[in-house]
Amino acid sequence: MTVADCLFCRIVAGEIPATVVAETERTLAFRDIAPKAPTHVLVIPKEHYADVASLASDNPALAGEVLGTVADVATAEGVVGEGFRVIFNTGASVGQTVFHAHAHVLGGVDMDGDLT
Ligand code: IMP
Repeated sequence: MTVADCLFCRIVAGEIPATVVAETERTLAFRDIAPKAPTHVLVIPKEHYADVASLASDNPALAGEVLGTVADVATAEGVVGEGFRVIFNTGASVGQTVFHAHAHVLGGVDMDGDLT
């Protein structure tokens, strides 16, 4: 399903440019436009789910594919050895601003946002 006014659906459709770093048949990874870490990549399912909770409950296989792409991105970005963080903001109250499920892959900062 594609949602016409969804920013990330529009990136999947090629209507909005993005710096793509990895792609599979059902997932896409691209650099965050406002990086909060030396490595900051977003990994999404191409199909629209509002957040990771609905993705995991409605399509667990696709949720697994998203995590597989997260691992591939971490390897390609060279952050596996030093460590990296994976964040799924879920709900406006905790800071989710784009309601299309996405994993933040963050390398080079700790939980407080300090450089590692
Ligand atoms: P959220 O706050 O967890 O929903 O994360 C949304 C993320 O999308 C933020 O880190 C934004 O910087 C990022 N973002 C917003 N618009 C774009 C874009 O057009 N390209 C890439 N990243 C974007």
